[in-house]
Amino acid sequence: MNIKGIAVLGSTGSIGTQTLDVVRAFPDRFKVVVLTCGSNAELLVAQALEFSPKAVVITDTAQSDFVKSKLHHTSISVYSGMDALEEVVQFEEIAMVLNAIVGAAGLRPTVKAIASGKDIALANKETLVVAGELVMDLARKYQVKMLPVDSEHSAIFQCLAGEETNPIEKIYITASGGPFRGMNRSLLATVKKEHALKHPNWVMGAKITIDSASLMNKGLEVIEAKWLFDLEVDQVDVIVHPQSIVHSLVQFQDGSMKAQLGLPDMKLPIQYALTYPNRLQNSFERFNFLDYPQLTFEKPDLETFKNLALAYDSLRKKGNCACVLNAANEIVVDSFLKDKISFLGMSDVIEEVLAKVNYLARPSLDDYIETDYMARRIAKEIIN
Ligand code: NAD
Ligand code: MG
Repeated sequence: MNIKGIAVLGSTGSIGTQTLDVVRAFPDRFKVVVLTCGSNAELLVAQALEFSPKAVVITDTAQSDFVKSKLHHTSISVYSGMDALEEVVQFEEIAMVLNAIVGAAGLRPTVKAIASGKDIALANKETLVVAGELVMDLARKYQVKMLPVDSEHSAIFQCLAGEETNPIEKIYITASGGPFRGMNRSLLATVKKEHALKHPNWVMGAKITIDSASLMNKGLEVIEAKWLFDLEVDQVDVIVHPQSIVHSLVQFQDGSMKAQLGLPDMKLPIQYALTYPNRLQNSFERFNFLDYPQLTFEKPDLETFKNLALAYDSLRKKGNCACVLNAANEIVVDSFLKDKISFLGMSDVIEEVLAKVNYLARPSLDDYIETDYMARRIAKEIIN
């Protein structure tokens, strides 16, 4: 059996640790070549001692000495800083890079991995939100696979297996609606981060949990799907499905619809991305219909949750708009988590930043990086 060399970027996060759970379940299938994290040095060291990768990266340079001191008796190389991510993804032992970094910080490592011919398992949706057209063009040029880890996109990808010659009429991305589903704006005016951090169905990192409460996560996923599956904006629809059992649906040109179902557990889409096109037997909990006698569907409320409307607008305007949306969102979410801005204030700031950053119709990678920087600066100015 071929052992697949993998790099796990963001290995200490919610997706990163669940990826290592999957790897642990199939020890003869995968060899971990690289592990990286932002600042959780203790966990990175523990993972390194367990999986013996060729190298680890801690992007927070202040912690690099700690990691080095803990691993000096091993043959594991220790790198630090953001640039190191772009270096380590090129190792020839790596066949696939699973990117579970949060935010636009994941873009440059993805681009470098693609240009080095590595298949990509993508959890870092922000890569495609910021620069979807450029990244997918590169993936075609270097003939690498882009395997979605996001559960909705994995669902669509699974529904498309065997349908290569059949055009998609449209897709429905399901949304749980988050903890504030059904609330109006006067109720939302009073919600705090403690409420927003309680997702009804999924346990995830802080940023995506806030994005789920504000529906920005669904907006980012619409943009991600447009590029991943090469669709027109109007072919991507969102339907609220509070039980999170139907992970998304594809409608073909004969009107037939395919859906992928399962319990809400990210290990399933992670495993599919790692083992595609194969399905390996595992012991994850199975779905029981009798636990879910009702699966319900409703329209998203775009007037209350303005972020989803802003994401559709940004996608329609093309150019660097979605990059601005994403950067402004990263700043407002961080500010909301620090109690510097209200829940509803987040959309207002994003809207203002979108109006202020210069529009670029055909941005290069450097243009995206500059746009990201400008949008963050303007968002911070508005908040402070
Ligand atoms: P998380 O915050 O739990 O983990 C993020 C990881 O990235 C950590 O290892 C952290 O150390 C590292 N990191 C953070 N900032 C960094 C930076 N600037 N540079 C380098 N590394 C950095 O996040 P998560 O919930 O695991 O989400 C990761 C990505 O996966 C996000 O793009 C998210 O939208 C996507 N995703 C997550 C879930 C989920 O269930 N958690 C589901 C679908 C998609
Ligand atoms: Mg998702």
